[in-house]
Amino acid sequence: MREMLQVDGLEFEIRRSDRRKTLGLTVDRAGDLVAHAPTATEAAELERWIEKKLLWVYRKLAQKAEMAPQVKAPEFVSGEGFCYLGKRYRLKVVAKQEEPLHFTGAGFRLRSGIADPEAAFRTWYLGVGDSWLKERVNTFAPRADASPKDVLVRDLGFNWGACGRDGSLYFNWKLLQLPVKLIDYVVMHELIHLREHHHGPEFWSALERAMPDWKLRKESLAGSAREFLRFGLVESSD
Ligand SMILES: [Zn+2]
Repeated sequence: MREMLQVDGLEFEIRRSDRRKTLGLTVDRAGDLVAHAPTATEAAELERWIEKKLLWVYRKLAQKAEMAPQVKAPEFVSGEGFCYLGKRYRLKVVAKQEEPLHFTGAGFRLRSGIADPEAAFRTWYLGVGDSWLKERVNTFAPRADASPKDVLVRDLGFNWGACGRDGSLYFNWKLLQLPVKLIDYVVMHELIHLREHHHGPEFWSALERAMPDWKLRKESLAGSAREFLRFGLVESSD
């Protein structure tokens, strides 16, 4: 059986060996993460060590993503995975169901034969996203020393978030697929924009004060952008 360890939402396979004296990390061609460790290494130690290497891991994953072929649009078939707050849930297409798309807590159920399954997902994410993001913004607003006029969840194409001139914050419904840590980065980023409207040095130092590990989150977000922006991709004809 494979030994797995989850760190920061990433799955690492742990391969132990008596011959190994030091810890090592590899990202294989498929993007799978493997930690090589001496046999007796404790899980807690492994976790601490991997945490220190996360920036490197995210950089590697981002490089892989850039070289990987274009991410395919979802097919909406049974067994396909769809993410919600960083967790992957299986889709099951069912014959009968009142709503087009239903989330059970353990998976998604999609009614078969609906004309626009992507719209069903968008509607679902928009529905759960509205109150979830409002609450998240309220949580972080004091730390950013800013409060928005309104919080709105919309389709923002390939942007994760935006800060409106009137002091409203906009978030992309596609964010709801991401791990909470990464959504929080976008939330904090937009909150800081309420005070600092440009990406000047003042912006980044304000962000640093409010969220000291922002850099790691930003890199991770860049690395996962392709996967999570697959909704809205035009289906290729082949
Ligand atoms: Zn910005």
